[in-house]
Amino acid sequence: MSQQTPLYEGKAKRIFATDNPDQLLVEYKNSLTAFNALKKDTLEGKGELNNKISSCLFKYLADNGVENHWLRQVDDIHQIVRSMTIIPVEVIVRNIATGSLVKRLAVQEGLELAFPLVEYCYKSDELGDPLIIHDHAVLFGWATDEQLKKIKQICLEINRILSELFSKLGIILVDFKLEFGLDSQGRLMLADEISPDTCRFWDKETRAKLDKDRFRQDLGDVLGAYREIWTRLQKHFNI
Ligand code: 5GP
Repeated sequence: MSQQTPLYEGKAKRIFATDNPDQLLVEYKNSLTAFNALKKDTLEGKGELNNKISSCLFKYLADNGVENHWLRQVDDIHQIVRSMTIIPVEVIVRNIATGSLVKRLAVQEGLELAFPLVEYCYKSDELGDPLIIHDHAVLFGWATDEQLKKIKQICLEINRILSELFSKLGIILVDFKLEFGLDSQGRLMLADEISPDTCRFWDKETRAKLDKDRFRQDLGDVLGAYREIWTRLQKHFNI
């Protein structure tokens, strides 16, 4: 299946064409990168966990009215998605201050934000995904004003749905990154992945980190953390 040449290879995924021009095959890789790929490693089983977690969350979002690119899981490391033109704006939603927000503004680590903070970054490895404001994206043609307003609204809805879900699993959804695109009919929808690579998850009781920060900060047992997220989702959904 993945013997052909990928159309695109990113840090965590490879994308292949399928017989259907409107659909792509995504392969989740075991590679783990941080700090714009300055730190790299391979973790056997990571791709499988992220494929399963992402598939489960995309399906849950679709069931709750959030249209997205995910169509079906094929096997342990592959899923079929709609072919999309990705909007080069990454959206970060934060419920608790940590990571680059604390580094940038020296606000208190772990501060519970009074309302969800929505930030935009320009998707550019070369520039290190710099933080931008709404008007940068519109002025430079990365997204229209209307698209960005819709994206922000969808992001807040996703935050509400996923925060509630994870709360039931004993997990705080601290922050996460989303990407959007346009399908072949020009419909705006959620794309990319939602996994411990792209979200911060803290255990509600112990505040243990159950995400890629374990890799970024050399906390150990990275795979165990990803497996914990999947195990709690499996239990909740009876998968
Ligand atoms: P921060 O800006 O604090 O580094 O990240 C905020 C949230 O967005 C975290 O959940 C982080 O995992 C996610 N995030 C931000 N940028 C990226 C990125 O380029 N790749 C991935 N996988 N996640 C990102």
